[in-house]
Amino acid sequence: MKTLIATAQLQREIDSLAAISENPSPVVTRVLFSEADLRGRAFVKKLCRRAGLAWREDAVGNIFARWEGADKSLPPVATGSHIDAIPNAGKYDGVVGVLGALEAIRALKKSGFRPKRSIDLVIFTAEEPTRFGIGCLGSRLLGGVLPAGKAATLKDRDGKSLETWRKQAGCRGGLSSVRLPKNGYSAFIELHIEQGPILEKENISIGIVEKIAAPSTLRLQLTGVGGHAGALLMPNRHDAGLAGAEISLAVEQAALHSGSPDTVGTTGIFKIEPGAVNSVPYRAHLEIDLRDTNLKTRNAALKQVEKSAHEVCKRRGVKLKLVRLNVDPPAICDAGLVKMISGICRAQKISCKKMISRAYHDSLFMAQICPITMIFIPCRKGYSHRPDEYSSPGQIEKGVRVLAQTLAAISS
Ligand SMILES: [Zn+2]
Repeated sequence: MKTLIATAQLQREIDSLAAISENPSPVVTRVLFSEADLRGRAFVKKLCRRAGLAWREDAVGNIFARWEGADKSLPPVATGSHIDAIPNAGKYDGVVGVLGALEAIRALKKSGFRPKRSIDLVIFTAEEPTRFGIGCLGSRLLGGVLPAGKAATLKDRDGKSLETWRKQAGCRGGLSSVRLPKNGYSAFIELHIEQGPILEKENISIGIVEKIAAPSTLRLQLTGVGGHAGALLMPNRHDAGLAGAEISLAVEQAALHSGSPDTVGTTGIFKIEPGAVNSVPYRAHLEIDLRDTNLKTRNAALKQVEKSAHEVCKRRGVKLKLVRLNVDPPAICDAGLVKMISGICRAQKISCKKMISRAYHDSLFMAQICPITMIFIPCRKGYSHRPDEYSSPGQIEKGVRVLAQTLAAISS
């Protein structure tokens, strides 16, 4: 079957969605439930309607646009991604997996293909953690990884709750209704930019994801004793900043010596108070990101970091409050799907390689309910989450073509 991808139209739609932003072009900012996010969602719904897809929205705002299959008794297949964007982002992260998937469906329709299983295009709510501090909010609820009761307690920095936000945005029903049954889909495929430099460097068109690394995030609040930088003598100090510094180094050591080359540890947030040159820091806020493709070594490194934090704080007489924000397992992608997509690439004469996704995506949580994999396309220099993020129309076309062929194969 031949699928013709309307590359120019798809690019126009990507550009139009990018123009719906809280900041002027080329910056894309669409934080969950902001005015720009709501307009972006309305734009995508309009395109789905135009493509003849009926959509529904669940209680947290996940959108499901369906191409009805011939046999409604079979579990549908799904594809999709997200359109929310962190502050100062670009136009391709997530969007390629939404508008590209819509174009894949339109191309299949035009080719005369009729699916046996229904095909759902899912637009996930809040893949980015900007508003509530937790990434993949929509897919976590769908996959049952985040209990509805816990989600209901989420609040943003201004104290406004998810409950208030979602009702204001017009989402109806209780959060517990979001969860999908196991095997509610027969497969889920996500198209996404690589967000890394490998495909571009090796001049390969498609990455097929075999594994998604297991993420975890810790939030630490250290409280020591502040005072005048001149008057408070060294033996009497309980410096929260220094305790934080030691813990950051312990994160590096735990990642370096975990025994797995894939363990990465980052102290991405480190703020001290009061933040004056002549004042001993009495408080430090740290947020630590620790990931690995191997759950055993990730968990061991996580324990090591927590142990070090307690030791350092005890020795320095600093009070420690430690919260695990999320501790997720890795996802192993379905070997059958990976093999099928390799075959499709070969038949289409498109170069491909198997990859690990070190960033996490909604697919990580869809793996809780059905077999998954991801299709990566190259992006310039691996840049992402910045306004100069870029994939060429030709690179996107190949990704969409492989996705279309894959959807045809798994829905017939
Ligand atoms: Zn993304």
